[in-house]
Amino acid sequence: MSKVQAVAARPPASRSHDPPRAFATGEAQERSGLAAVPLRSWPRPSRLAAGIATLRGAGPRLAEAAAELEIGSLGDLLWHVPHGYRDRTTLSEIAELRTGQEATVLAEVRSARVRPTRRRRLTIVEATVADDSGPTKAVWFNQPWLADQLTPGTRVLINGKLDRTGLRVSAHEVVGADAGGGGRGSPAGLHTTGIVPVHPASGRVRAQRIREWAWQARRLAPDAIEPLPAQLRARLGLAGAGDALAAVHFPAATADAEIARARLAFEELFLHQAALASRRRRHDAGRRAPRLEPPGELTRAWVGSLPFELTGDQRLATEEIDADLGSERPMQRLLMGEVGSGKTVCALYAMLRAVESGHQAALMAPTETLAEQHFATLERLLAGAGLPSVALLTGSTPAARRREHLGHLAGGQLELVVGTHALIEEDVRFAGLALAVVDEQHRFGVRQRAALDARGPGDAAPHTLHMTATPIPRTLSLTAYGDLEVTALRELPAGRRPVRTWVVGEEKRAGAYEFIRERLREGRQAYVVCPLVAESDKLQARAATKEGERLAAGEFRDFDVGVLHGQMKASRKGAAMERFASGETQVLVATSVIEVGIDVPNASVMVIEEADRYGLSQLHQLRGRVGRGEHPSACILFADADSEAARIRLEAISSERDGFKLAEVDLSLRGEGEILGTRQHGLPHFRAAALPQDAGTLLHARDEVLALLRTHDSLDAPALGPLMDAARLRFGDERAEPIAA
Ligand code: ADP
Ligand code: MG
Repeated sequence: MSKVQAVAARPPASRSHDPPRAFATGEAQERSGLAAVPLRSWPRPSRLAAGIATLRGAGPRLAEAAAELEIGSLGDLLWHVPHGYRDRTTLSEIAELRTGQEATVLAEVRSARVRPTRRRRLTIVEATVADDSGPTKAVWFNQPWLADQLTPGTRVLINGKLDRTGLRVSAHEVVGADAGGGGRGSPAGLHTTGIVPVHPASGRVRAQRIREWAWQARRLAPDAIEPLPAQLRARLGLAGAGDALAAVHFPAATADAEIARARLAFEELFLHQAALASRRRRHDAGRRAPRLEPPGELTRAWVGSLPFELTGDQRLATEEIDADLGSERPMQRLLMGEVGSGKTVCALYAMLRAVESGHQAALMAPTETLAEQHFATLERLLAGAGLPSVALLTGSTPAARRREHLGHLAGGQLELVVGTHALIEEDVRFAGLALAVVDEQHRFGVRQRAALDARGPGDAAPHTLHMTATPIPRTLSLTAYGDLEVTALRELPAGRRPVRTWVVGEEKRAGAYEFIRERLREGRQAYVVCPLVAESDKLQARAATKEGERLAAGEFRDFDVGVLHGQMKASRKGAAMERFASGETQVLVATSVIEVGIDVPNASVMVIEEADRYGLSQLHQLRGRVGRGEHPSACILFADADSEAARIRLEAISSERDGFKLAEVDLSLRGEGEILGTRQHGLPHFRAAALPQDAGTLLHARDEVLALLRTHDSLDAPALGPLMDAARLRFGDERAEPIAA
């Protein structure tokens, strides 16, 4: 009986957090084992730097195609971890084959021919093959050339499934002296026997090809540097990097594959956490931030004057901020909460803390629209006696005004400033910047964030509060923001009304427009969000323009319709938003650019077209644009959920309003690599690790890095050299390490 099954390499969702152990079939490296290793110095990592064009069966064209799979060097190839395995360890006898069952047989060709078919695009090669137990018919589709290759007497390994027509071949290899094994230098049976790895592949580079390459490259696995400290490996019983890299492609037993993958995942997550820790250390190194006095009369009076009570989460956030500001260690805190959760209020609290201790504070946003919006919010929240005034500094600030602001910032008369990148231009000087707030921080590069950081007084670093409106689950925030402390605002301020959300099909379209017209007649406003065209901003812009024209002439002909898309110039975009905010236009037809940067409480309806194309988090962000005022709000999603994932997403968005919960659903549906806008969060691309499944491993790796830091005091300890080199090489930030202090 053959034992054939597909083995999923990715771990199931709930896996034990035990560290990956040595392989089932091998021992962890032992002293006696090491003594037996032939005299040779290794590793030789330079061998792994060679391009894959150096392999047999890999020319420049294929190498180019492989680059799309992020396979450039032989080292990349070794880290190109299979996503599954086929267990073909057992050879079956032909006489034993059962219909419907996959099996591998070793047989000899008796005869082969192309069988005529009626259909033009179909060719069938039919062969009679036999082993000691008897003959069977084997069938190949659309490979007419095989009829000539499969000459009588040829020995073939065949993997396939028996059905009514015969043995339907899924893979075969010719075995024998002159056939040269499996071709291109691979041994016979590579594709058809044993545990066959299945690598992520593409249309241009097939899995079979990658398997052949991996087979050649596996000999270089011992040349991989071992970045994990020996003591750690010994304590956790971890296999060596080289052994794991070899075994992950060609495991001796099925269980070895997962042990090897888990070992590599641990290494990856460990290196990543080490890189984050190093970044944080470097940032902190020797730089002190001004230690601020405890909250005084100014902030206390301001909090008391707010027309609302802080939510529990906001109070916690301000307490954490207070603790941070009272220390000389520069604050590096991330405030995470969806739009409207009250982040700006917390940020302003921190800014006022800086001001009342005699310093300055700045808030930097990624776009002019956002900066203007923050400026308006701050002005509104600061409209009380004795409160400092705030200035706006963006690319559109008139030169004279700009000069005046810069003078006041350098002179210290201006205490609060809101702006864009204009805040970090060369000639901007602060008299005493104690607090920097960076909104939507993932949209700034490391350099830009560092630039604001460098505006501290003298050698001092300002405290920094980062903000993001994209809630992500804790495990992801640890990967993306492992160098920041995270505070989450989950509780929405009182008075925010839940947005009723419907997912509807085309048959409801007329009714939906009538519903919207009713709201418009009542004086409300509406958004219409056009389908996501991932490939092209231009196409998306065109679609929005067309839809705007269609609605203006059709369903909404009695109303004023505006259009907003990403291809418009900033000034035109601003004007379109302005018209909508003032109520001049009642319907805004937009692309997903309205995701950030617009706040119109009077808008109470949103339509999202082809909602199944959007990710869950993105839908949630879009929906957050309504339900911001006193009016009951609604979100109508036109969708055609043809996939299971889309159906789950749409069901989740209509029944759940907690952005963190939705982010978790999103994550479990798609895996971290595919979350829309993953790059935005600064998430690295992991090759062996998969989140959230490896969350336990992530937490474990993080603990181990922290433990290492406690033991070594500094990441620059010589003993940690190879580790930190590997971490920076793999996950380093843009800044180069200074050679000399
Ligand atoms: P975010 O920056 O997270 O989008 P904001 O701080 O701008 O949120 O707050 C959104 C709106 O809610 C603002 O109009 C703000 O005045 C109001 N708000 C903030 N905190 C509270 C609260 N605790 N209770 C009621 N309203 C609040
Ligand atoms: Mg805001």
